[in-house]
Amino acid sequence: MKLNLNIEPLSAWMPNKQPLVIAGPCSAETEDQLLATAHLLAKTGKISVLRAGIWKPRTRPGEFEGIGSIGLEWLKRAKEETGLPTTVEVANAKHVEEALAAGVDILWVGARSTVNPFTVQEIADALKGVDIPVMVKNPVNPDLSLWVGALERINGAGITKLAGISRGFSSFEKSAFRNEPMWELTIQLMTLCPELPIICDPSHICGNRELIPYISQKALDLEMDGLMIESHIDPSVAWTDAKQQVTPAALSDLIDNLTVRHQEPQNPAVSDKLAELRKQIDKIDDQLIQKVAERMKVVEKIGEYKRDNDITILQLNRWEELITKRANFAKALNLDEEFTTKLLELIHDESIKKQTAIMNDKTVVE
Ligand code: PEP
Ligand code: MN
Repeated sequence: MKLNLNIEPLSAWMPNKQPLVIAGPCSAETEDQLLATAHLLAKTGKISVLRAGIWKPRTRPGEFEGIGSIGLEWLKRAKEETGLPTTVEVANAKHVEEALAAGVDILWVGARSTVNPFTVQEIADALKGVDIPVMVKNPVNPDLSLWVGALERINGAGITKLAGISRGFSSFEKSAFRNEPMWELTIQLMTLCPELPIICDPSHICGNRELIPYISQKALDLEMDGLMIESHIDPSVAWTDAKQQVTPAALSDLIDNLTVRHQEPQNPAVSDKLAELRKQIDKIDDQLIQKVAERMKVVEKIGEYKRDNDITILQLNRWEELITKRANFAKALNLDEEFTTKLLELIHDESIKKQTAIMNDKTVVE
C-alpha cells in the first residue's frame, strides 16, 4: 500500500509541547460543567487544546446524543475565557458548517465515521476551500485501509493540517481494554507516512481510568506526538463515558508522571533497527501479560468449581503431566528447561494462591 499525503508538520498548528495534551469532557453537558472543567484544565498549564463532544454517536437511540449546537456557544465562551483552542467531533456536513461558524479551531472525525467512506467524503466535501486542522480517528474495526482512505479523502479536499488518532479497535475477544490498542496498525500507519502526526486517545482504548497512565506512557514510548484524554469536573456523574474520564487534577498528576524519553540516534540505521525490535518486544510482552491474566481468570473458575464440588486444590498427577508436557514443548522451541520449569512453577504458585483464596472464601460465607 502506498500513502502520499501532502501534510504540514504538527508545529504548524499545535504548540510544540512535550507531551502535547488535548483534554476535555467526553460530552459538553451544561455550560457550567464545560466552563468549570475548561478553567481547571487551563489552570494546570499542561493542556494545549480543549475537547468536547457536541454531537455524540451513540450505540442505541435514547441515550444522550449530545447537547447539540448550543454547546458550540459554551465552547466559544470557554475559549474566550481560557485562551485554549478548541476541538470537536464532526460526523456530517452540517456539523462541519456549524463548527466552522462557531470558530472551533480543530475538527476530528470519530471512529464510527471513519468506517464509512460516504460519511468521510461528505465531511471532506464540506471542508473544501477551508484551512483548518483535522484529526482522523482510526475506524472501529481493525482495518488500516479504511483509516488510510479517510486520511486521503480529507487530504484530497485540501486539508494539509492533518493528524491520525489511535483510539483502539473493537475486538471479539474479551480483554482488559475497551478497545484493543493493536499498536501494530498504528505503527504500520506511522511507517507508511512518517510525517503524519499521531495522537493517542488512551481514554477510549482503556474504557476505565486505571489503565490510562500505562497507555499514555506506552504511546509516548512509541513516539506518538500527543495524547487526547477525556477529563470531566466530576467524572462520577458524567452523562457519557463516566468510567474513563478523569478530573483535571488527576490529569495533571498523570501528566507529571509521564516520562518523555529521547532517542539519541548516533547511527540512525542501528537505532531504527533497535527501535523496531523493541516495538516487537513491547507488543509480545503486552500479549504475555494479557495471556497470564486470562489464565488466572480460568484458574479462578476452576477454583470455584473445585470448591463447589469438594475437590482438592492440588492434584499432583495433573501438575506433573502439565509440567512434563510444557517442558517438552518449550524444549522443542529452544527454551532452556530450567527457565521453563521456574516460569511454570511461578505461575502455578500464583494459581494455587488464587484457588486457596477462593476455597477460604467459602468457609467465610458458610
Ligand atoms: C469521543 O472522542 O468522544 C468519541 C466518541 O470517540 P470515538 O470516536 O473514538 O469512539
Ligand atoms: Mn467518549
